[in-house]
Amino acid sequence: MTRTVYVNGQYLPEDQAKVSIFDRGFLFADGVYEVTSVLDGKLIDFAGHAKRLQRSLDELQMANPVTEEELLEIHRELVRANGIEEGLIYLQITRGAADRDFAYPAAGTQPTIVLFTQAKPGLADAPAAKTGIKVISIEDQRWGRRDIKTVQLLYPSMGKMMAKAAGADDAWMVEDGHVTEGTSNNAYIVKGNTIVTRHLGTEILHGITRAAVLRFAREAQMTVEERPFTVEEAKAADEAFITSASSFVMPVVEMDGAPIGTGTPGHVTARLREIYLDEMRKAAV
Ligand code: PMP
Repeated sequence: MTRTVYVNGQYLPEDQAKVSIFDRGFLFADGVYEVTSVLDGKLIDFAGHAKRLQRSLDELQMANPVTEEELLEIHRELVRANGIEEGLIYLQITRGAADRDFAYPAAGTQPTIVLFTQAKPGLADAPAAKTGIKVISIEDQRWGRRDIKTVQLLYPSMGKMMAKAAGADDAWMVEDGHVTEGTSNNAYIVKGNTIVTRHLGTEILHGITRAAVLRFAREAQMTVEERPFTVEEAKAADEAFITSASSFVMPVVEMDGAPIGTGTPGHVTARLREIYLDEMRKAAV
């Protein structure tokens, strides 16, 4: 089936959508993105993603070609046109096409905006949520502004390949002995009743799922500590998990080949996943 995608104001069959070879997203990774999940044909935390998108654009002094209302309408139209019940919507905005030069092009250069859907039947019922995933630890060799959600994703890709080569599912990145985050998710450990995850700053992406999960954890009277944690702490934890818009809350049961806790998904993780999915389905738009 040919998807309908959105590019610069038009809905087109995917094989007819085109972007210039001079696009700065292509030449400089000069672009930002968002991934929003769809459950029951509705958008999960659209407002959170729209807000972070604007923040990423502002940090890079990049123009936003659409209003939040228009963006919501485009998301909904793509869900409808492609019959998405469960899946993801990918959105990318770049600084647009201009003759190749490191300096930003003149104000008024039209940004490029592209959106497409990915159908993922069974997204909320992923088997990995019951078995857990395995991670390896790798050095965090990304740039210093990880709070901006740019399309500069080569190191996370390399990290996933390192994990794959080691027989694991993902990698947790480590800086100065402390875990920053997963290659495409935020990282957490649980010790007793306390959930520990790195504090916000320029070292990690400010996950939209993270914000919601921490809010629900506090509402459920769980203790949350936002601070750096070490690889050793992770290996000695009772539970570990990741969060992202595509995995929601996903247990981590092994790190560098050693089991975490009992080596099976923990009950705090399971409870948070359940609350997150319940509450976010209710609030979906
Ligand atoms: N950290 C990184 C590096 C990511 O790429 C992502 C997902 N894009 C996340 C965290 C999770 O963010 P969110 O919950 O907003 O999907």
